[in-house]
Amino acid sequence: MTTEVFIALGSNLGDRAGQLRKAIESLAAVVALVIRSPVYETAPQYVTDQPAFLNMVLSGETELEVLPLLEKMQHIEKALGRVSGQRFGPRAIDLDILFFGDSVVDTPLLEVPHPRLGERRFVLQPLNDIAPAKCHPITGMSVAEMLAALPPDDDIRLFPGKSQN
Ligand code: ADP
Ligand code: MG
Repeated sequence: MTTEVFIALGSNLGDRAGQLRKAIESLAAVVALVIRSPVYETAPQYVTDQPAFLNMVLSGETELEVLPLLEKMQHIEKALGRVSGQRFGPRAIDLDILFFGDSVVDTPLLEVPHPRLGERRFVLQPLNDIAPAKCHPITGMSVAEMLAALPPDDDIRLFPGKSQN
């Protein structure tokens, strides 16, 4: 049995596009890629005095349970040079589980759906590109509805680079 998973990828240090590509390659060992979004360049949220991010979202099918998947993602983050630092601060790569089927997980280590999904245009915009009708298992809102509910002022644009494709 496999589960449909949505993963958000972000990077704002070093070779941002290259790190996204390498993360997708590494994830392929445990997540069979179904579709990936375009890449967006976005202004940092929360901690605004740091470089711009590249953000994207992918969906795939995995045979893993959700905690082993999180552990694998954290292993990939470390292998790609992520060091622990400031919360919401600069990072070579950030991998977040957005949805894991319609599972709801609420533990100190892991919250699924991702708790800040609904406030993040840098997540909702690429997610809307690949899965506008996907519904949040708690609120019932679709991705398109969540995106439409955001304030219009975030700084986000398509990233024209080719290396991630
Ligand atoms: P953020 O991704 O919100 O900027 P971090 O990546 O620094 O924050 O947060 C890391 C911690 O978040 C991890 O140690 C992990 O245990 C926890 N976490 C909780 N829910 C999730 C999730 N859905 N996906 C990824 N990490 C999560
Ligand atoms: Mg994270």
